[in-house]
Amino acid sequence: AIIESGWNFDNSYARLPEAFFSEQGPSAVRSPELVMLNRSLAVSLGLNPEALQSAEGAEIFAGSRVPDGARPLAQAYCGHQFGHFTMLGDGRALLLGEQITPGGKRVDIQLKGSGRTPYSRGGDGRAALGPMLREYIISEAMHALGIPTTRSLAVASTGQPVTRERDLPGAVLTRVAASHIRVGTFQYAAARGNTEDLRALADYTLERHYPEIPKDDDRYLSLLKGVVQRQAALIAKWMLAGFIHGVMNTDNMTISGETIDYGPCAFMDTYDPATVFSSIDSQGRYAYRNQPRIGGWNLARFAETLLPLLHEDDEQAVKLAEEAISQFNGLYQSHWLAGMRAKLGLFGEEPEDEALVDGLLRLMHEHRADYTNTFRALTLGQQGAETLFGTEEFARWQEQWKARLGRQQETEAASRELMRSSNPAVIPRNHRVEEALEAAENDGDFSVMHRLLEAVTKPYAYTPEQEGYCSLPADSTRPYRTYCGT
Ligand code: AMP
Ligand code: MG
Ligand code: MG
Repeated sequence: AIIESGWNFDNSYARLPEAFFSEQGPSAVRSPELVMLNRSLAVSLGLNPEALQSAEGAEIFAGSRVPDGARPLAQAYCGHQFGHFTMLGDGRALLLGEQITPGGKRVDIQLKGSGRTPYSRGGDGRAALGPMLREYIISEAMHALGIPTTRSLAVASTGQPVTRERDLPGAVLTRVAASHIRVGTFQYAAARGNTEDLRALADYTLERHYPEIPKDDDRYLSLLKGVVQRQAALIAKWMLAGFIHGVMNTDNMTISGETIDYGPCAFMDTYDPATVFSSIDSQGRYAYRNQPRIGGWNLARFAETLLPLLHEDDEQAVKLAEEAISQFNGLYQSHWLAGMRAKLGLFGEEPEDEALVDGLLRLMHEHRADYTNTFRALTLGQQGAETLFGTEEFARWQEQWKARLGRQQETEAASRELMRSSNPAVIPRNHRVEEALEAAENDGDFSVMHRLLEAVTKPYAYTPEQEGYCSLPADSTRPYRTYCGT
């Protein structure tokens, strides 16, 4: 009998005004091979992993065959890239359609690296295997950390080299997202100056991501407030996990509130608020400490696109937008502080909590402590390798912390449980990610990547097997560098 794959596509994006996309099929590749399949994600989407793990599945995930019901298209968008406004669009990605899951959820199925589109400009529309595997690892780790994110369903190698600084093996990533609607999609609609198309996009977005908002005249202001709330919560989670996105251009900020576009991102090891990994971010615009501020800046660009829908009077529209945007900092700060309290096992709120957190962070910075391992050590009640633990200042800080813990009703066990579920024992450390990619790329050995995934997708498990993934690289003198657009 034929095993059905379970594809169940709708194509609502293709029903938007045609300016928002270009119909475009993927380009067939030489020898499609499925190298990664996220079986549990497949099952949750109503897909059958056995059927996907076939020659036909490999062809679909490499872009050589379009599954039944899909209607491939490239999305149009604009974006502020490092502050400069640019016309963009999916230059190497295609939306196959929206999979309707058995639970009735609608998610985008997108191929990344599937060939040229009308928006490719000078690019080849292709992606290299290493960076697609990197996105797979980091996005799945983010999901396991409890951070809203796009997911990775599959990686297929193409058998075709892509030419970068040198020839690299090519691959296609299949990405799953609540949607790919970005701040940049609204910037595109606003830049065209067609208010009816803008309204169509806003109504579509409301229906898809904010169904709880009543369909009245205030709905666009509610949309703005909703996105402000979700992004404040999201960026707080990045900061709490030590995640640096690396390229927070407005085209890389979703309206759904999911993390998207895993290019030059990386997790911080040594705690330093100025940390930047991206090779092209020479000014540090997207440094760790700047992420909340840039989030607010991007949301102001989003608010500008909505002005024609907020009020018929321009001045009133600006006033409403500014009020909504002004909420961001306070929302961000309260999410962040709530998260930091949890990382320290604190219940309730005391006015001195923020100073307590800042005191620890200051010591971590001064002693170049590892961000994740410091909180892990506090969770385990073991003072690990970090030099701050040997200092008198830390002993004083610890006394204040213990005193604060002592003033709460909750038991020590409850505190420890809270810390365990808030402080990951394992993150995808840069040297471990590189090691996994090298084995896969150079030797076709995916076992290193599978073991890494096993560890980073259970970040709060605190198992003995994970301990190997907590250690820092032997030689950490060379700064880690990440790259966009490979
Ligand atoms: P990113 O920095 O990944 O957000 O990409 C910025 C823009 O460049 C997006 O519109 C991409 O679709 C496009 N792009 C990146 N790499 C390529 C490529 N190899 N070929 C065509 N377009 C690309
Ligand atoms: Mg079109
Ligand atoms: Mg992008």
